Amino acid sequence: MSTNNSFSGIIDHYASRLPVSEAMKPVSLGEGGTPLIKLRNIPRLVGKDIELYVKYEGLNPTGSFKDRGMTLAVTKAVEEGSEAIICASTGNTSAAAAAYAARAGITAFVLIPEGKIALGKLAQTLMYGAVVIQIRGNFDDGMRLVKEVAGKAPVTIVNSINPYRIEGQKTAAFEIVDQLGGAPDFHCLPVGNAGNITAYWKGYSEYASESQGHPSVTSSCPIMVGYQAAGSAPFVIGGMVDHPETVATAIRIGHPQSWDLAWLAQKESGGWFDKVEDDEILRVQKMLAENEGVFCEPASAASLAGALHDIESGKIPEESSIVCTLTGNGLKDPDTAIKQCHIQPVTIEPELDAVKRAILDRL
Ligand SMILES: *Cc1c(COP(=O)(O)O)cnc(C)c1O
Repeated sequence: MSTNNSFSGIIDHYASRLPVSEAMKPVSLGEGGTPLIKLRNIPRLVGKDIELYVKYEGLNPTGSFKDRGMTLAVTKAVEEGSEAIICASTGNTSAAAAAYAARAGITAFVLIPEGKIALGKLAQTLMYGAVVIQIRGNFDDGMRLVKEVAGKAPVTIVNSINPYRIEGQKTAAFEIVDQLGGAPDFHCLPVGNAGNITAYWKGYSEYASESQGHPSVTSSCPIMVGYQAAGSAPFVIGGMVDHPETVATAIRIGHPQSWDLAWLAQKESGGWFDKVEDDEILRVQKMLAENEGVFCEPASAASLAGALHDIESGKIPEESSIVCTLTGNGLKDPDTAIKQCHIQPVTIEPELDAVKRAILDRL
């Protein structure tokens, strides 16, 4: 779904900033180069003088930011001679793993929580030909099993505990600095396993330290803010959650793997974690689609929902520049989207009068 034709994937584009060699053959689908969209209508609706952007990661090849990390993780796995990869997933990691494995000609095993993955993600994963193993448990159970089995079978783990995932994902921060001509004041993210907030912080920090010797480049670091769904909010509670629940299935995680690194990002940047209720997540998902023409999945809307709350309260002050990452495409989860659209399609006879009436009634 990538829209930037000059962009040939994050490994090619950012080779000098990634742990890659000249000889390496990227397993790529042209990921990265996603749009940074300045919101026009929502700042006006909330009556605040802010510069609010969304980084639309739903336009990556499999529809989520996971592609940035997966291109590097699979490239490295192939380079190291691996013939199979494995992951636990709430959906998007499995879709990305399956696609890049197909591209590389290797096998992907994915463990997903039975009945708790969005329909589009399941469709993708099956189409790309992964071996799908549904478990009667949640993501955290899957993650535990993947770690256990990977020690005993010749498979490479491609969850974000694989350091190449974080390396690939940090490129989103590079792009934002390039697109804005500097870092924003605040960067807001939905947090599940906490790999992505870790990756963004790494990316911003690397770019800022590099620019110190180059006065022409002015890059500092943003304040990092992580938002969790209220029923799955270990960073807000300050401890693990054994039975996470939320409509935002991509962040239905109670035992985040990048626990320490995410706290470090929060502390070093002077940021914070907060939670957002499910109904608020869904309200903002619809608000964004209706007012800006940008359709993201529920987990992604947690970043904007949280940001709007903190803008409203003044915790994020006026005149700030703010980037919210929209982690995944709205098409991933059609069931949840259709359920919250109260206006259903009108059905008419195929006649001019009927269509005229249908239009005039609604003008
Ligand atoms: C994976 C994912 C997240 C959470 O990212 P973490 O790195 O696990 O914190 C959020 N939103 C979507 C759509 C995702 O796929």
